[in-house]
Amino acid sequence: MAEKPASTTASGPADGTATPPSASGGVTQATIVKKTAPKSDYKPSNVSPQRRVQRSYTVRLWSVRHSRFLEWFYARFADAFLALHPLWKAIGYGRVEGPVKFVEKRVKGFMFDCRMCGQCVLSSTGMSCPMNCPKQLRNGPCGGVRANGNCEVEPDMPCVWVKAWEGSRNMRHGDAILAVQKPVDQSLRETSAWLRVTALAAAEREKARTEAA
Ligand code: SF4
Repeated sequence: MAEKPASTTASGPADGTATPPSASGGVTQATIVKKTAPKSDYKPSNVSPQRRVQRSYTVRLWSVRHSRFLEWFYARFADAFLALHPLWKAIGYGRVEGPVKFVEKRVKGFMFDCRMCGQCVLSSTGMSCPMNCPKQLRNGPCGGVRANGNCEVEPDMPCVWVKAWEGSRNMRHGDAILAVQKPVDQSLRETSAWLRVTALAAAEREKARTEAA
């Protein structure tokens, strides 16, 4: 037999525990505050956490929707960076790291909410950064994705892996999402993925030239 609920008042149960909003006749605290707020013509924007959160995902979701274009653009960009390898080498990768990292952090931060893990996998994840997953999963979603496709930890945020799959379906090499990613090497945090990829590609190109000679 179900236990009889303790009696409650408008400010909560007698034992001091909080009353769930739905338990007080469907009127939430937010509704009470809104109704009692003084009326005026000035309605400040950007005071709703919900709206702030939605806005902060806008660019990230745009990037996923345009993953095919970004895939194409990134390939051209990587080629340009590789072509500049002699310049990076002449100046010294260590010296250019600061300015490149400064730009990379801001550009990718704006476009993808990048966390500068230093091992970028955007081209394998539909342009959805997996480091935005609160559990930082690099190989697909956990079992807690909500029915609406949102994250179980951050209910207002679309699951980054649901978006990754959607983005990957638009891409030419979208099946790269099926490749198993290595664990994140935390020692590479706050380093430039652009320079790292460029230096690795240059080394591979050098090796192929040497072997062919
Ligand atoms: S995978 Fe890493 S480098 Fe790429 S956008 Fe995400 S945090 Fe930034």
